[in-house]
Amino acid sequence: MCGIVGIYGKDTVAPSIFDGLVAIQHRGHDSAGIVTLDGSFHLKKGLGHVTDVFRGVDPASLPGHAGLGHVRYATIGSNGEIDAQPMVVNYPFGLAMVHNGNVINFASLRRWLHDERHRLVDTDNDVSLILYTLASELEQRDLKHLEVSDVFDAVRATQDRVEGAYSAICIIAGQGMLAFCDPHGIRPIVIGKKFSEHGIVYVFASESVVFDLLGCQRIRDLQPGEAVFVDRHHHLHSSVCRRKAQAFCVFEYIYFAREDSVIHDRLVATERVRMGRRLADTFRKTGIEPDIVIDVPSSSYFFASGLAEALGVPYRRGLAKNNHVGRSFITQNQTVRETMVRQKHNPIPDVVRGKKVAVVDDSIVRGTTSRHLVRLLRKAGAKEITFVSASPPITHPCIYGIDMSVKREIIAAHYDIDQIRHYLEADAVVYQTLEDLKDLYRDLPCCYACFSGEYPTGASEEALRIIEEEKLKSKR
Ligand code: SF4
Repeated sequence: MCGIVGIYGKDTVAPSIFDGLVAIQHRGHDSAGIVTLDGSFHLKKGLGHVTDVFRGVDPASLPGHAGLGHVRYATIGSNGEIDAQPMVVNYPFGLAMVHNGNVINFASLRRWLHDERHRLVDTDNDVSLILYTLASELEQRDLKHLEVSDVFDAVRATQDRVEGAYSAICIIAGQGMLAFCDPHGIRPIVIGKKFSEHGIVYVFASESVVFDLLGCQRIRDLQPGEAVFVDRHHHLHSSVCRRKAQAFCVFEYIYFAREDSVIHDRLVATERVRMGRRLADTFRKTGIEPDIVIDVPSSSYFFASGLAEALGVPYRRGLAKNNHVGRSFITQNQTVRETMVRQKHNPIPDVVRGKKVAVVDDSIVRGTTSRHLVRLLRKAGAKEITFVSASPPITHPCIYGIDMSVKREIIAAHYDIDQIRHYLEADAVVYQTLEDLKDLYRDLPCCYACFSGEYPTGASEEALRIIEEEKLKSKR
C-alpha cells in the first residue's frame, strides 16, 4: 500500500506535494519521492519518511508546475532505493508515474513487455510494468497529433493488459496529467481543485486529507476503470475506459485510511463508529458483560467508542500509545514489528485493574500483537479480557497491496476462534461477522477477499503461489 499525490498547476508545485505527502505518510514509510516537470524532469527520492528524504533539501528547489509525489510501503519488490517512486521513462514524450496497488500478473506482463515490445523492466517494482505498458500503448498512436481519445485508448489497452489493483498518476510531458485506476476500482483515488491567482490547480491524491491541507475542494473519487486527463490548457476530460464490477477495498475503512478522510462520500471515522456499533449485536450474543471498553490506539478508537455506546458500557483509554513509533502493521520485518509493538503500547493500570475489559482492535492478522496486548493488560491487573476484532477473521492473503499476503502468517487461516483465543491468552475473542460487514456496505460494492478468498480479479492457485513467493523474496 502506498500514498500518491499529483498536482497540475500554474506555479511551483513541489512544496504543496511535499505537504500532501506528509498528510498521507501513514500509507507508507519505506521510501518517498517527488518528481516535477519544468522542460525536463527533476527527481528527488530516497529511503525513509518524506522528511528524511528532504532533510536539508528545499522542495521548492524542484521547479515546475506539474509534479507527482509518492510514499511507499513495499509489498512486492525490494525495500531499496531502486524501487522508490516516482519512476520516469523518456519515451514517448517523457513519462513520470506514481502508483498505489499491486500488479498480479507481473511475470507474464514482464515477459510480454520484453518479447513483444522489447522493453527491459529493470526494477522489481510493479509501477514500472504499468508505466512501460502505458508507454508502449501510447507509442502505437500518432504522437504528432495526440488526441485525448488516444490517451484514453492507451489507458484502456493498459487496463486490458495489467491485472490487479492500481491507482496511478502520470505526467505526460508537454501533454498533461493523467490519473486512472483498475477496472474494479480497488484502490482509492480522489480528485480536487483549487484556484490560484494564476488559474485553476488540479490535485489527485489517495486520500482527501491532502485537500484539507492544501485548501482544495474535493470534487469526487474516480470510478472503477475511469481515467481523468488534464490537458496542457488545464481542461479536464474523463472517460470510464474499462469498467468491471466495483470492488473497493473495505480495509481502507477498517484500517488504512486516515479517519478524517472522505472516501466514496463516507467519512472514515463515521464508518468505524458504524462498524463498532454493529459489533454490539455479535458481542451481546456471547453473554459477556464488560465493565469497560478500551481501544488499541489509535486506529481503533472509533470502533471502540461505537461498541461502547451501543453496549451502554463506558469507553476508557486503557492503553497509552507512544506516538513516536511508526505503524507496526506496515513494517515488513517481524522482529522489528514486535519491537515496535513493545515500544508502542503501555497499559494504564488504574483504568484496567480489577476490571472486565473488552479491548478492541481493527483486526487480528498474525496474532502476535494481540497476544502481547493481552499479556500487558493481564499484568496490569485486568480481571477478564475479551479481545474484539472490528473486522471479520482474515483467512486469505491480500494480493492487492496490503501486507498480509503470506498465508502462513495469517492466524485465522489455520485456527478456529477457540484456538485463536487460546493463542492470544484471552478469556474470549469476538469478531465482526462478514455478513454484518457486508450489510454495512450494501450500497458500495467492496472487495472482501481477505475474509472470503473471493478475489474480484480472479486468482488461480498458481498465481497465489507466485505472489507469495515474490512476497517472501521481498521480505528477505
Ligand atoms: S483482499 Fe482485503 S485488504 Fe486486499 S484489497 Fe481486498 S479487502 Fe482490501
